Amino acid sequence: MTKTTALKKYFGYDSFRPLQAEIIDHVLDKKDALVLMPTGGGKSICFQVPAMVLDGLTVVISPLIALMKDQVEALRSNGIKASFLNSSISNDEQDAVFWAAKLGELKLLYIAPEKLFSGNMVENFKNLNISLFAIDESHCISSWGHDFRPEYRQLSILKEEFPEIPVIALTATADKVTRRDICKQLQIPEEHTFISSFDRPNISLEVLPGRKRLQQIQSFLNKVPNQSGIIYCLSRKSTEAVAESLNNLGFKAEAYHAGIPADKRSKIQENFIKDETPIIVATIAFGMGIDKSNVRWVIHYNMPSNVESFYQEIGRAGRDGTPAQTVLFYSFADIVTRTDMIKSSELPEKQKELMLAKLDRMKQYAEANICRRRILISYFNEDIGKDCGNCDVCKNPRKKFDATVLAQKALSAIFRTNQKIALTMLMDILRGSRNQSVIRHGYDQLPTFGVGKDLKAEIWVDYILQLLNYGAFDIAYDEGHTFKLNEVSSQILKGQRMVEISEYISPSERQAAEAE
Ligand code: ADP
Ligand code: ZN
Repeated sequence: MTKTTALKKYFGYDSFRPLQAEIIDHVLDKKDALVLMPTGGGKSICFQVPAMVLDGLTVVISPLIALMKDQVEALRSNGIKASFLNSSISNDEQDAVFWAAKLGELKLLYIAPEKLFSGNMVENFKNLNISLFAIDESHCISSWGHDFRPEYRQLSILKEEFPEIPVIALTATADKVTRRDICKQLQIPEEHTFISSFDRPNISLEVLPGRKRLQQIQSFLNKVPNQSGIIYCLSRKSTEAVAESLNNLGFKAEAYHAGIPADKRSKIQENFIKDETPIIVATIAFGMGIDKSNVRWVIHYNMPSNVESFYQEIGRAGRDGTPAQTVLFYSFADIVTRTDMIKSSELPEKQKELMLAKLDRMKQYAEANICRRRILISYFNEDIGKDCGNCDVCKNPRKKFDATVLAQKALSAIFRTNQKIALTMLMDILRGSRNQSVIRHGYDQLPTFGVGKDLKAEIWVDYILQLLNYGAFDIAYDEGHTFKLNEVSSQILKGQRMVEISEYISPSERQAAEAE
C-alpha cells in the first residue's frame, strides 16, 4: 500500500499537509526523525500512515494516559487495529493486548513510558515484530523543556535496546536547546529534524494590564457573543470563581480542572465540543488532545509559566484558520506567585533556575515593545521577517528608531567574546565597566569595550532584551544563559539588515501611560 492510499483509506484525506509526505517518506526509509509541528498541525498522521504502510507493529509512546483510550478508539473507528497498555487496565487485559501484538493482530500499540520500562516488558517487546517507535510529546524527555518527566528520560536507552528500529519523535513545543537534547537522548541525527512553521497568523495577540479583569472579560465577551472560547486560570479555585461570576453576569460558562471527577470532566468537554457550553474556564489540564476547530478566542486570566505553554494554549484557538482572538492579562502579582511556586517547589536547583529563566522570557513577552508574534516565533527559532500587523503592539506602535548600530555593537561584543557571555557581562563590556571579571578575561582590551557607555544600564537591558525578542541572537539556557549568534545576527553584522526597536520608556512613564 502506498502512503497516499493509506491516507485516503484509513483517514479519508486526499492530500498531505506541508511536510507530512516528506516526513513519512523519511520514516518509510527507516530513518530516525524529530518532528516539530504546532498543535493541530497533523503530527499523528506522520506515524499513523507509516504504521499502516509498514509490516509489523508501530509502538507509540505517550505520557498522556488519560488520552490513550480516546486515541485508540478513534483509530478503531477508522478500521485500524489498535490497542493500548497502561496502568488503567487490569493485568489480564494487559496480557490479552500483549498476545494480540505477539500474534501480529495489532498495527498500533500505545504505551506509557513507565509501563514500557516495568518488569521485563523491554525483553518481551524484543519478541514482537516492531517496525517503528513513535515518541509523542517528546519534549518531556529533556530537562531543558518545560515539561520534563523523569520516566521519559529512560527512553534514552531505546536505541541501545532496539538499535534496528527507527524512531520518530514528535513535539509541538521545543526551543532549540530542547530540540538538540531530544536528538541527543534518542540518538537522532540533528539534521533529521523537521520543523513546520509555527506561525499562526490568524490568531491575534493582545496583552492587557491585569486589573479589573472580570470587567474587561465582560466587555470582551459582549463583543463576541455565542462564540466558543477558553479562559485559562492558575488555580482550581479561581476557575470556579471566574466561571461562577460569568454565569452571574449571564454568560454560560463551566469550570474545568483536574480535581473534578473524570466522568464529569468528559461531560464538560463534550458539551464544549458540541457547542452547548460556549465558555470553559480551566486550568492547564484542559485542552490536551481536544480537537475543536472553532475555538474563537483564548484568554489567559493569569500569566502562564513559560512561552511554550502559552503558545500551546493560545494555539487551541482558530484551528480552522479563520480569525481568532487571544488576550493575556499581565500583572506583576502573577509573576511573584509564579516565582514563589518555582522557588518553593521540590525541583533540583538547576531545574528551578531554568524555570525562572523561562518565566522571565514570558515576562519579557508581556512587557515587549516589539511585534509580539516576532517574539513568539523567534522563540522557536523561526524568523517571520516582518511585523505581523495582528498584535496590539503592531496596532498601537510605540515610537521606533533605527537600532542597527546598537545591535551591531552588542553582536560584535558577543562575537569577540566567542559567544561565551551572558547579559551582565555584555552590559559591562558595552558600558566599559572595568570590574574584576572583565579584567580577568581581558575584555577591557576588546575594541567594543565601552562603545555603549553613552546609554544607562537600564536602557541597555531594555534594548538587549528587545533585540533578543526580535531574534537578533539566541540564548543558550544549557550554557549559562550565554548569548549565541544566529543567521539574523550575521545579516545585521554584515549590514544586510536594518533593525528597528522601540524607544525606551522608564517604568514610571509606563505606569503613567497605563493609568490613562
Ligand atoms: P497534532 O497531533 O499535531 O496536534 P493531529 O494529528 O491531531 O494534530 O491533527 C489535527 C487535525 O488535523 C486532525 O483532525 C487530523 O485528522 C487533521 N489532519 C491531519 N492531517 C491531515 C491532512 N493531510 N488532511 C486533512 N486533515 C488532516
Ligand atoms: Zn505584531
